Amino acid sequence: MKAIFLDRDGVINQLVFYHEQGIIDSPYTIAQYKLIDGVCDAINLFHQQGFKVVVVSNQPGVAKGYIDLAMFEALRNKMKSDLAAGGALVDGEYYCLHHPEAAVPEYRIVCDCRKPKPGLLLRAAHELSLDLAGSWMIGDNFTDVQAGAAAGCRTILLGRAKCELCRLLDENNTHPDFIASNITEAAKIVIKE
Ligand SMILES: [Zn+2]
Repeated sequence: MKAIFLDRDGVINQLVFYHEQGIIDSPYTIAQYKLIDGVCDAINLFHQQGFKVVVVSNQPGVAKGYIDLAMFEALRNKMKSDLAAGGALVDGEYYCLHHPEAAVPEYRIVCDCRKPKPGLLLRAAHELSLDLAGSWMIGDNFTDVQAGAAAGCRTILLGRAKCELCRLLDENNTHPDFIASNITEAAKIVIKE
């Protein structure tokens, strides 16, 4: 079985701009969690094409002390209930909760699952019997492209490639197979290929 691996924040749901800190980050409350337009249709299209759809996401919010595990689970449930309301579901969710500089000691490790490492994709492939060479990683970050390529998948980078990101891609000789502006466009690319 082949799969579409989806990063979560910036692919499935919108990123949040935190004005006070001046940073863009994951949603940390239920109210901040908002699906991106077109995501349910894209997921259904992937299923129609015979792909499993699997979320693979770094979620260091608990490790950094921004949220507790209960809120992390509540956000997962919010994602699934919002997708269900749009008639869509995901076949698996794999999260890395670690961070090498975590405030919370139990999560402060250098793990093999934090993207750009391919651990989450490899674990999903093992547990769900996925064919990685027939699979795609879709994400909005440099690390998604690296993790997908390391796992042997084709990759699609979402978003306008910022100069900063282009420089990083070049320096690391890591290039997505395609660049798309959002998941809807990414779905069109997968189907065409
Ligand atoms: Zn990890």
